[in-house]
Amino acid sequence: MDIVYRFDPHAPLELKRPRSNKQALKMLEQGNMRFCKMVKHIQTIGEGEREHPPMVIPVNPIQLGIPIAKGLEVMQAPWALVLGCADARVPIEHVMDCSSNDLFVVRVAGNVLGLECIGSVDYAATHMRESLQSVIVLGHTGCGAVTATVDVYLSPNNFSDIAFSHPVRTLIDRLMLSVRGAAKALEQECGSNIQKDSHYREWLITTACYLNAAVISLDLQREVNSVTKGLHVSYTVYDTAWSRIEALPIRPEEDSDSPNRVVFGNAPGSAEEFSELSKRIIQRLVENAAGNRKRKR
Ligand SMILES: [Zn+2]
Repeated sequence: MDIVYRFDPHAPLELKRPRSNKQALKMLEQGNMRFCKMVKHIQTIGEGEREHPPMVIPVNPIQLGIPIAKGLEVMQAPWALVLGCADARVPIEHVMDCSSNDLFVVRVAGNVLGLECIGSVDYAATHMRESLQSVIVLGHTGCGAVTATVDVYLSPNNFSDIAFSHPVRTLIDRLMLSVRGAAKALEQECGSNIQKDSHYREWLITTACYLNAAVISLDLQREVNSVTKGLHVSYTVYDTAWSRIEALPIRPEEDSDSPNRVVFGNAPGSAEEFSELSKRIIQRLVENAAGNRKRKR
């Protein structure tokens, strides 16, 4: 199996720069699709596919962050700002197939918006406004910080070590709103018996991962609006099992290039929109579980 990164020194140096939020979101979506294509290529070969021509990825030094002349310092000019989780399985430039100097990335467990993160966001939104076209909150499924919060919510008595740790509690406190919202929505959509269902903890975690990204995008939009104008904040969630970004839980049977996918979502602007989003997330989880049962039969 060959995955070849090829640099042609005689090819013209082309750098794609988006000129609007729409173009920036499209570039992030296409980058993740290229990453998914590579994942699929590797998995197909792993499954025993014999015919596998090499995958050739053209690159140039600027994309890799290599100055084209000695001693030349490149000016920082990211076109998207991403607030993501510190999780080691979600290296943001890698899963979005982005280059050096494309993204201004702020990473913290649970992609929560603490004071230091706000400082970094404000700095980028103020000093790099000319190049910035878009702001994204990137959550991910199976988030450890969200999982810990769900466990505290479900069995508070078993997590006294967290109760005595102020730094960890600052994370849990910020995430609890989404976990409580997820629990309430699950009860409304599936009835109170859902708490006895074997999927309950897993669905609570997944629903909270999506809701958390959406809620933080609302906070981030307010923050960005306070320092600059015209920068739109969206959210999306990286599915760690399928390597794909989407604003709702993915449908495994759907291709990564399906036009039906909602890749980026807008922050819910009211209690009704928050409740509607929770409903759509849970409906997807229910649909996916029904699809799984059908496949197993
Ligand atoms: Zn995480």
